[in-house]
Amino acid sequence: MKIDSLRTLLEEELKDIYSAERQLLKAMPKMAKKATSQELKRALQEHMQVTERQVERLEDVFEALGKPVKSKTCEAMQGLLEEAKGIMEEEADDAVMDAGIIAAAQKVEHYEMASYGTVRTWARLCGEDEAANLLQETLDEEGYADKHLTELAESLINPEAQDGDGDYNQGGRSGGTSRSKSSSGKKSSSSKKSGGGKRTGGKNSSR
Ligand code: FE
Ligand code: FE
Ligand code: FE
Ligand code: ZN
Repeated sequence: MKIDSLRTLLEEELKDIYSAERQLLKAMPKMAKKATSQELKRALQEHMQVTERQVERLEDVFEALGKPVKSKTCEAMQGLLEEAKGIMEEEADDAVMDAGIIAAAQKVEHYEMASYGTVRTWARLCGEDEAANLLQETLDEEGYADKHLTELAESLINPEAQDGDGDYNQGGRSGGTSRSKSSSGKKSSSSKKSGGGKRTGGKNSSR
């Protein structure tokens, strides 16, 4: 097949993203199950529901373009999910495993952000504003998911993975707020309140 125009390239890329989202949807329950931090579990489950809607939104994009819904295996997502699986099959302390799951999940989000930013722009160039708006909506959701993961990693999970003093998830499984280190006073060096753990700048360059 010859890709003879930007519109054709757009349509091909949409089939790829459609495949990517559906692969991800299938893999996410395992990631949420493997996560040990309740906050991380919740973030992954929340993004799973968002992803379900993203799949439907892509179907709307195909419709807006007057094209049948089609999927073409996204090999990049296959690879990212294989790596995620590889991490999840390892033995690791809870916080270290969570840090690994976040890394895998953020690679996925960044891949999606790159793809959606691109097709959003192409759709706009092709005069397909309805499609472009739908794709922008999803791009915003991916950006939010990525930021949320950064916050969880920087505020809580990475510091625990690094110090490994064994108090990770103590009492956290009942869903309490007991893991807020600032209240225990034990971690004053790694969780200075003023630091805020919010160095998320520059993560949304694809908008
Ligand atoms: Fe997505
Ligand atoms: Fe792809
Ligand atoms: Fe890799
Ligand atoms: Zn996503």
